[in-house]
Amino acid sequence: MRIAQRSATLLLVAAAVLSPGHPRAEPRFSFAATPGKLPKDVVPSHYALRITPGTDRFEAEAGIDIDVKRPVQAIVLNASELTFKSVKLRAAGGDEQTLAPSFDPKQETATLAPARAPIAPGRYRLDIEYSGKIGRHPQGLYRFEYKQREPGGLVERAMLATHMEPVSARKLFPGWDEPVFRATFELTAVVEESLTAVSNMPQSRVEPRPGGKKEVRFEKSVPMSTYLVALFIGEMDVLEDEADGVRLRIYTAKGKRERAHYAMESTRQIVHYYNEYFGERYPLAKLDQVALPGGIGGAMENWGAIAYNEARLLYDPRRESLRQQQAVYGIVAHEIAHQWFGNLVTMAWWDNLWLNEGFATWMADKITEQFNPQWGARLRSALSKEWALGEDARRTTHAIQTPVENDTRATDVFDSISYAKGAAVLRMVEAYLGEGVFRTGVRGYVRANRFSNATTADLWHHLSDASGQDIPKLVSGWTEQPGYPLVRTSQRCENGEAVVTLTQERFTLNDPGASPLTWNVPVILAGAAGARRTLLVERDPRVARFPGCGAIVANAGDSGYYRVEYDDPAFQALSAELKHLAPLDRLRLLSDTFALVQAGRTEVPRYLALVGNLGDEADRTIWDQVIGSLRFFGDLLDKAEEKGAFDRFVAQLLQKPFSRIGWDRRPGEAADTQLLRRSLIEALGRAGDKAVVQEAQARFAARADKPLDASIRIAVLNVAGRYADEPTYQALLRRMHNATDMNAKWETLSALRQMQDPRLLRQLMELMLTDELPPGDAVFNLTHLGSDSGQVELGWQFVLARLPVVLAKASERGRPYVLPDAARGFTDAPRADELISIARTHLDATALYQAEKAADWIRLKAAVKEREAARAVAWARAHTRG
Ligand SMILES: [Zn+2]
Repeated sequence: MRIAQRSATLLLVAAAVLSPGHPRAEPRFSFAATPGKLPKDVVPSHYALRITPGTDRFEAEAGIDIDVKRPVQAIVLNASELTFKSVKLRAAGGDEQTLAPSFDPKQETATLAPARAPIAPGRYRLDIEYSGKIGRHPQGLYRFEYKQREPGGLVERAMLATHMEPVSARKLFPGWDEPVFRATFELTAVVEESLTAVSNMPQSRVEPRPGGKKEVRFEKSVPMSTYLVALFIGEMDVLEDEADGVRLRIYTAKGKRERAHYAMESTRQIVHYYNEYFGERYPLAKLDQVALPGGIGGAMENWGAIAYNEARLLYDPRRESLRQQQAVYGIVAHEIAHQWFGNLVTMAWWDNLWLNEGFATWMADKITEQFNPQWGARLRSALSKEWALGEDARRTTHAIQTPVENDTRATDVFDSISYAKGAAVLRMVEAYLGEGVFRTGVRGYVRANRFSNATTADLWHHLSDASGQDIPKLVSGWTEQPGYPLVRTSQRCENGEAVVTLTQERFTLNDPGASPLTWNVPVILAGAAGARRTLLVERDPRVARFPGCGAIVANAGDSGYYRVEYDDPAFQALSAELKHLAPLDRLRLLSDTFALVQAGRTEVPRYLALVGNLGDEADRTIWDQVIGSLRFFGDLLDKAEEKGAFDRFVAQLLQKPFSRIGWDRRPGEAADTQLLRRSLIEALGRAGDKAVVQEAQARFAARADKPLDASIRIAVLNVAGRYADEPTYQALLRRMHNATDMNAKWETLSALRQMQDPRLLRQLMELMLTDELPPGDAVFNLTHLGSDSGQVELGWQFVLARLPVVLAKASERGRPYVLPDAARGFTDAPRADELISIARTHLDATALYQAEKAADWIRLKAAVKEREAARAVAWARAHTRG
């Protein structure tokens, strides 16, 4: 899955902490030892599901082949919001009995009890007639509306779709909704004759039914986990192709087929590469991808029927930016990687989610770098690693492998740790073992566990086999302990040699009570003359010698998941040489220095002086790091006059690179320049640069005659939105209302969330309480506009005043995010306390993790504000001309 629009995360905090340096050794996969709620003495092997959707509800029948391994008093399975009409159990010998269901809505289980217990061991068929709800949130079977332009004007259409991960399959059918219970599926759907139905497998039979309906039956699937089951029903166009004998199709809403060509071209390349890389061919006859004009915000890797929000999959080179093209490639590469890592070999339980998500994230970066070297993907993935490095240094972090006791809160592990830290650890291991050895290990793992489940220990086992090294010893500290190390270097010059001493300690932000852990850290050092050396830093200090006395770069090439703190002379030497360092090393030095300021290990002028040494920096990823860091400091300033001074400093700093590239694309300019332009326009607009604001407003006003250039459109809209007056607000509302594309709708909402005018913001918030947007989108926009506009107090008070309405709009699984999202922009510690106390009164104790994370983030900002705000302003004043 690719999460979007949401910074998800986990429930287990302190309980995951292990004794320093002695991670527990997780066992290899065994069905019996896999955690979960459901007893393992009844095991399903096949589901025959027949679904007849109406408007708000569906009617269904499930025939489930089960194996009762031991005498049981009752059968326990998952069911959520389903109404059972009849439950029959038929023994292999033909005896049939009726079972009485009872439900536990909180646990999302049903217990089916026979009149005469126990049920004897043996094979049975369980037949359940039932009905269920068609929701408005992407959980289970859901319905969403979208707009389509037709000759007569805009028309409303609706689609049905499913989204199961992590635990919503139980809303579509009763069953064993835990990843370890693999079974085959045979789906049948009764739908309107004119509609298209897509599922995991190819259609096997279509028969007419009365009332303009048809019954579509799909082939029997391979054995798979329930969270991968999929069904889509709607009016669709299709684009077809093939790769290595696999039939490829992309389904879109009517009229959008031509915009799927880029995704299709990428799919062909990616499937072929993975067939080769994994040494196992894609096992189904077809791979469909569905571009949904609504519903989920990201994507979901359903086996053979991947779902995307259309904004993630469609790309029209005439209307969309390079950024969109890159994002499409990245997400397709991620979801297709899951067809192996996730679908063919599935994590046994949610505590090993990183095997799915870390791997798919790592693989998508790898293939993007391989086939699109001009995109600077390596540097981008280094910047996205910061997402994890930031969260993993805080009190609320958890180990990559972390207990998930309550699967209804499994959404909490879809976070930076599973995705970005998981990917970074795999990259570190690959860099240490070498690409070839690593791939051999991955192939062994996939071959040994295909159509089965696995744990992290199984991956380590096969990497040990391939490398002849004790991989668990090397890496279990990274996956079984929370946090990561700070590698400290001190350097001296001795007889013409640089002598570097390396030590490690745990790096934390605002967490003085963190347990002191150590790791086996592979540190790559680069000397001034280009000499490289890898040292394994363990508990004791390590010393390395390099010829010549130039400054030594640690974590050279950024393959490690840790931060580096140089001693002062080495830092000064590297800082002076900043513009001559490789881009990855420049990014590392900037990011680490910024984090050291956040941690209180150095002061803000050190970071700002480093930025001053960038010279004629042209790389947009480097600038994105700088823009993000400056925004962090700027957001800490409370007084308008101080904010103004800091904004003037930011504007002057960014005017320099912007003046070199200007507003308009130039023939032959580097692809990256377009992306830098967009970042700079947006940041200059945010800092209130008059010329940029006026030009953005003029371009927005003239857009009917001169359409906005796709490469900067979102930046122009955001700046126009930020300084919107009433007519601009109305124009943006019309644009949103008339949008037939999710992309256009999202970028317009983004512009609206930037508005500064409190009166207009209030109007927008009121609009979010109506049915203008699907409920999940409305809640997202309502809870994020405070941070985006900078009017955190206004947004927070509005959400508090309408809290019952807002919570009712959110899905059950989305509810724990409402208050933390609305409060995240605060920078004073008492607001963290307020958030926690309000969250406690509205949420169950198991659903407080998101609030704790946001509160910790607010407290961190408050601590940095107290230490650094005055220094940041003083620096800005001293370094602004005029
Ligand atoms: Zn994923």
